Amino acid sequence: MNDTESSRLAPLRFLERVQERDLARTRRWIADEERREAERRVGEARRPPAPEWLIERGLDRNNTVAVHTGECWDPGKRAKPATRAQAIEALRHQVPACSKCRPDTALGIEV
Ligand SMILES: [Zn+2]
Repeated sequence: MNDTESSRLAPLRFLERVQERDLARTRRWIADEERREAERRVGEARRPPAPEWLIERGLDRNNTVAVHTGECWDPGKRAKPATRAQAIEALRHQVPACSKCRPDTALGIEV
C-alpha cells in the first residue's frame, strides 16, 4: 500500500465508521419505537371496556338526572356506569333519557 492509496482510504474508513454509528443509532430508535408501540398495545388491551350505559346523578346523590348510552359525548360530570337493567329501570321510573344520545331508542323503550 503506497501513500496515495492510504490517504484515499483513510477518509473512506472514517466515512464508514460515521455511517456505522448512524446505522446503530437508527436501529436504537427503531427498537425504542417498537418497544413504545408494544407498550401502547398492552395498555390498550388492559383498558377496561367503556360502560354501555351511564346514569347521571344530581348534586344530591340520590337524585338521578338522566340516563345516557356509554358513547354519549355529553354525559355530565356525575355519570356513573350502569348495567342495561339499571338503565331500563331508571327510564321506566321516569328518569329522563338524554336527548343527545337517546338511550331509550338504543334500548328500544318507548318513554
Ligand atoms: Zn347522553
